[in-house]
Amino acid sequence: MQFKIVADYFEKIEKANSRLLMTDLLAELFKKTGSDDIQQIVFLCQGQLAPPYEGLDIGMGEKFVEEAIAKISGYPKKEIEQKFKVKGDLGLVAEEVLKKKKQSALFSGELSVAKVFNNLLKIARAEGKGSQDLKIRLLAELLNSAKPVEAKYIIRVPLGHLRLGIGDPTIMDAFAINLLKEADAKLKKEIEDKLKEKKVDKRKEEFERKLRMRIRELIEEKYNVHSDLGSIAEKLKRNGLNGLKEIHITPGVPIRPTLAERLPSAGEIVKKLGKCAVEAKYDGFRVQVHKYGEKVTIFSRRQENMTPMFPEIAEAVKKQVKAKDAIFEGEALAVNEQTGEYLPFQVTIQRKRKYDIKEMAKDFPLRLFVFDVMFDDGKNLMGLPFKERRKKLEKLIKKGNDIELTKSIVTDSPKTVDKFFEENVGKGLEGIIAKDLSAPYIAGARKFSWIKLKRSYKGELQDSVDVAIIGYFKGKGARTQFGLGALLTAVYDEKEDMLRSIAKVGTGMSEQQLQDLEKILSKTSVKKKPARVDSELEADVWVSPKYVIEVRADEITKSPVHRAGKKEEGEGLALRFPRMISIRQDKKPEEATSVKEIIKMFKQQTHVKIGEEK
Ligand code: AMP
Repeated sequence: MQFKIVADYFEKIEKANSRLLMTDLLAELFKKTGSDDIQQIVFLCQGQLAPPYEGLDIGMGEKFVEEAIAKISGYPKKEIEQKFKVKGDLGLVAEEVLKKKKQSALFSGELSVAKVFNNLLKIARAEGKGSQDLKIRLLAELLNSAKPVEAKYIIRVPLGHLRLGIGDPTIMDAFAINLLKEADAKLKKEIEDKLKEKKVDKRKEEFERKLRMRIRELIEEKYNVHSDLGSIAEKLKRNGLNGLKEIHITPGVPIRPTLAERLPSAGEIVKKLGKCAVEAKYDGFRVQVHKYGEKVTIFSRRQENMTPMFPEIAEAVKKQVKAKDAIFEGEALAVNEQTGEYLPFQVTIQRKRKYDIKEMAKDFPLRLFVFDVMFDDGKNLMGLPFKERRKKLEKLIKKGNDIELTKSIVTDSPKTVDKFFEENVGKGLEGIIAKDLSAPYIAGARKFSWIKLKRSYKGELQDSVDVAIIGYFKGKGARTQFGLGALLTAVYDEKEDMLRSIAKVGTGMSEQQLQDLEKILSKTSVKKKPARVDSELEADVWVSPKYVIEVRADEITKSPVHRAGKKEEGEGLALRFPRMISIRQDKKPEEATSVKEIIKMFKQQTHVKIGEEK
C-alpha cells in the first residue's frame, strides 16, 4: 500500500472536528488496507512501531531531525531551526520545505507503507557509535522520496507525537464499523432479542448501533487481556470476528488492570459487597509481573516495561515464585529495612529512573506486596472468583523477604473494617481496598469488584483527582517568563471517548515545574481544539492530550463554564481550588478520573455533608 494514502487520511483526521468523523475516516482507511499492512498502519496511528508494552523508543532528538530536513532540502540548518521556532512543529516545517522543493526537482520514487515503517524501525533500533548519522540518513532517505504531506507525518513519528489525537477506543470503534457485516446469526439474534424487549422505534438504525457496540465490546474484551491492537487488527483482517478466538492471555503481553471504585464509608462498602475481603492499601507502584521460565518482565499500570528499574524484584520473583509461568499483580513499595516502616510515595517514585539504579536499590529497596494472580502454569485464572484466586496466590509465593502477600481480612462487619482501616492508616498506609469474594478479575474496567476507602484530608476532597491536560494559558505578570501560567484540564468520558473540561489549574507547581510543563506541552501543541476535547473555555494553546496530573481540590461544584458531567447533571462540574500535586507519568488521558467518578464524588460529597448536618 502506498504511504500517500495513509498520509492523506491522517491529514483528513487531523482536520476532523468530531470524533464520529474521525472514527469513520479511520474505518475507511482500515477497510482499504490489506492484511499485510494493517498491523503497521495501526501502530502508526498510535504513533509507534510496536505495541506500547515493548517500549520501543523511536526517539530522535529535534536537532537530528532538523539535520535530516536540512540535508534533503538544501536549506541551511539554521534556517530550519528558525522555521521550527515559528511553526513549533517540525512536521509542518518538513511539509513546507518539500512543497518548495517540489517546484525545482522531481521526487525519486513512491513510498510504500512497508518502506516507511521499516526505515523508522531501523531508526528505532540503531544503537551505539555512528547510530545518529545512520538515523539521519535513514530519515533523509524517506524524505527524499516523500511528498510534502507524507513528510509531515513521517517526521512526527520519531519525534514521538503524531498530533492526531487518535485514542485506542477510536481505533477499536473503527474496527467494529468494518466488522458489522461479519456478525453471525447468533450475535444478530442476541441483539434482536434485546431490542424486542425494548420496543424501540427506528429499529434498523438502533439494531446497527447496538450490534456495533456489541462487536466493539468483544474486541475490547480481547484487548483487555492482550494489549496489542496491531496483532488484533491483523487477526480481524485475516479471519474476521473469528480471529478473536486466536487471542489468548500470554505471559509477556500485559493485561489491562482492574480498577477500584470508591465509596465514602465502611458501612456502604459492606452494604454493597456483604462479606468481603479487606486489604491494606499500599501507596507505591502497581506492577504486573510476568514470569515465563527464567525470564521475568515487570510492567507498570501503563504497561511500560519497568524490569530494568526493579532488578531486586525480578530476582526475588525467580526465588519466591513457585510456578514456571505466572502472571500476578502487586504494589511495589520502598520499605525502611531497619524499622520495617513503609516509606511515602515520594520516596518510592524515585526508583522510577534510568540511572543509578543499583545505588537506589541499595538505599531504598522495594518490597512487593502481591494481591492477585491471573495466570498460573498454563491456566488462565481470570474467571475464578477472587476467593479462589487468593488461595492460588498463597500457594504460588514461597515465604521470603522481598515478596509477601497483602495484609488481608475477611469480614462482614463495618466496625471491623473501620478498625482495620485505622490500624493501617496509623502505619502510614493509604487506607484499604475491599474486594468482592466472588468476582472474576475484571481487566481494564472499574466495577464494584474492588472498592477503595482512603484516609480523608481535612477541608479537601477525600481523594485526589487525576486530570488530563488539554491546553494551557500563557503566563501573566510574574509568570510571563515561563510561557505558562495555568493548565486547562479535563476528565475522561469513557462512554464517548471524550475529554471534558473540569478545572483551570494554576497553583501547586514550582517555577521549575512550570518551565518543564511548558517545554513538554509546547511539543504537543495543536492549532485548534482537538476533536476529542469538550471545553467552552478557550485555551491560549491547545495540546493533543497526552499528560495527566494529580490534583487536590476542596470540593466539586456546579459550574457554568466547565463541561464535565454537563450531559448527565444539566450543568457542568468543576473542581474548587484545584492544586497540582504531581505529574502522573504512569497514566494516560484515558486513565484520568472519569466523568462518571466525578459525578459519583459530587454526589457522595453532598451525601456526607447532609450526614454531618444531622
Ligand atoms: P487508586 O489508584 O487510588 O485508584 O487505587 C487503586 C490502586 O491502589 C491500585 O491500582 C494499586 O496500585 C493500589 N493498591 C494498593 N494496595 C492494593 C491492594 N491491596 N489491592 C489492590 N490494589 C492496591
